[in-house]
Amino acid sequence: MNRTLLRILSLAMIASLAAACGADGSATAGGKDKPAVVASFYPLVFAAEGVGGDLVEVENLTAPGVEPHDLELSADQVRSLSEAGLIVFLGKGFQPAIEDVVSGLDESRVMDVLEGRGLLESAEAANESPTDPHVWLDPLIMAGIVDQVAVRLSEIDPASKEDYVDNAARLVARLEDIDRKFAAALSHCRTRDIVTSHAAFGYLAARYDLNQVSISGMDPEAEPSPGRLAEVARFVQAQDVGTIFFEELVSPEVAETIAAETGARTEMLTPLESAPPSGDYVEAMEANLATLTAALGCG
Ligand SMILES: [Zn+2]
Repeated sequence: MNRTLLRILSLAMIASLAAACGADGSATAGGKDKPAVVASFYPLVFAAEGVGGDLVEVENLTAPGVEPHDLELSADQVRSLSEAGLIVFLGKGFQPAIEDVVSGLDESRVMDVLEGRGLLESAEAANESPTDPHVWLDPLIMAGIVDQVAVRLSEIDPASKEDYVDNAARLVARLEDIDRKFAAALSHCRTRDIVTSHAAFGYLAARYDLNQVSISGMDPEAEPSPGRLAEVARFVQAQDVGTIFFEELVSPEVAETIAAETGARTEMLTPLESAPPSGDYVEAMEANLATLTAALGCG
């Protein structure tokens, strides 16, 4: 094979690859080019799929059942990021590998949900920790994220703007509804202390005036010290806390240790860091609310 022929062949291959993968950030599916959206973990996938519907292809960087903190990226995922029409992720050092990749990309394709206009101002003021990334557990912040996703999808795909705006409005209505249910159900409770595995519920606690005491801090993988375990156990006894909350992706061992020591029960409260086993974000939050109202003696 001579060099000219080889060159023509490889150019043809690149051209067909570009057509298939969508060098312009779209995926070819069902004969129609759809914007390719990469979302970094479940709550953002929920927002992107809810707003995009059938009009976009959404890829989740965090596999189901995988704990998303400090996610590592495969070579394929780095390629997905470089080719995506829109990347929806959460900054604050939650998944630094993604921040590293997107820092080199065109800003028009990159959406850090924490940089939304005014999104965090109200919650941040009420929150003790400015480094807490767990904003998605506040349904009203989620609603703000959904609205932002609609704005960004409309920018990359103006022809479908009306659909994106309509889908976002429907999703926001569901989120506002669950917010009203939380506010009403948690207004009068015997106790407002929630003892949790890792500190995922800071924004939720701030929104509904609960007091979160976490065993492991911000990092679910961090092993709490014996001193910390003793401190939390003392708090549980002093405040007569009846329930220690564990979560589905982290070993319940520390929660069970404190429960055994203090006579408290354990219950699952999902931080929604991965897709719930059944239902979606809103349905999992309804289940969280039922667990909270029973555990905190509300009503
Ligand atoms: Zn977390």
